[in-house]
Amino acid sequence: ESSEKQTIFKAYSLAAKLYQHILFQTDYGDPAREYMKRRGISSETAEVFELGFAPDSWDFVTQFYEKRGFNLALMHKAGILAQRDFDRKYFDLFRNRLIFPIADSQGKIIAFGGRILNDAQPKYLNSPEHPFFNKSRILFNLHRAKNEIRRKRQVILFEGYMDVIAAWEAGVRNGVASLGTSFTEEQAKIIKRNADQVVICYDSDSPGIEAAMKAAYILQAAECQVRVVRFEDGLDPDEYIKKYGKDKFIATLNQSLTVTSFKMEYLRKRHDVSDEQERLVFIHEMLKQISSLRSAVERDHYLRLLAEEFHYSLEALKEEQRKLFYQQK
Ligand code: ATP
Ligand code: MN
Ligand code: MN
Ligand code: MN
Repeated sequence: ESSEKQTIFKAYSLAAKLYQHILFQTDYGDPAREYMKRRGISSETAEVFELGFAPDSWDFVTQFYEKRGFNLALMHKAGILAQRDFDRKYFDLFRNRLIFPIADSQGKIIAFGGRILNDAQPKYLNSPEHPFFNKSRILFNLHRAKNEIRRKRQVILFEGYMDVIAAWEAGVRNGVASLGTSFTEEQAKIIKRNADQVVICYDSDSPGIEAAMKAAYILQAAECQVRVVRFEDGLDPDEYIKKYGKDKFIATLNQSLTVTSFKMEYLRKRHDVSDEQERLVFIHEMLKQISSLRSAVERDHYLRLLAEEFHYSLEALKEEQRKLFYQQK
């Protein structure tokens, strides 16, 4: 069991080195280096993140393992190789993909994320889970960001690997990302052990905004202080940095919203508040959000904001809030 674990770690580390070698030292790496250039990833950053390239081949890594006497069935179990149904033959899972090694909190590589270079689907492919890789317990880049996270007691949470990397280049070194699955309670607990505050910096498109709301609730339940960042025009952090530069990105990070303000902006987009009916739905949703706040001072602050904006009396809003509360029970 423990030797199996050692073999899997070894296999991942060797494959990562091989992919890295292909990317930087061979002609096979040309299209990937070209792609990195287009995406604005410098070679220094690529080296820091140990990026690699899986060539467009069915048996490149498979042959490498075979020559070194690795048990291919174990490599399949470890999520590195795939297996063909009809003749049970093993083959490379990652083909024509830029490879993002995924490490545990000690920095040991336990999985890969791979981005296709063209626009074929799926855009990203991650290693499947295996006995030493549980997606819901791993955060991309945690081992590299840990010192900065502990120093600042703050985590910046991104959706994508590219976002973490672009932010790193912009000097933001406390960024992590979940692995293409929704953010989990386990991940929130890991964050809570290292930081007090989490700045959610997801894509500003509608799936990103929905996911940010969900992550915010999970983080609040884990007693983290949560802030949320919004970018204009539905951009994601990587696109925003490319378009506006790192200074504006950092300024935007520093103008993060509270969860309640973020929710208010989000609901405002979904409801046309000039319509009486819609406005009432908006107010009710906001009152629910405000009721969930622990601090009386905060509750008072947002109630006043609502009252002022929509010309209600504070008493009327509180009355409405009480009514909602009893309805729910
Ligand atoms: P890029 O900038 O490279 O086009 P992105 O990071 O903006 O990609 P999104 O589509 O916003 O990609 O997805 C964010 C993250 O979600 C990705 O980094 C990846 O971790 C994950 N993801 C996206 N698509 C898939 C997929 N098909 N399977 C697994 N994970 C995915
Ligand atoms: Mn997206
Ligand atoms: Mn994105
Ligand atoms: Mn992107």
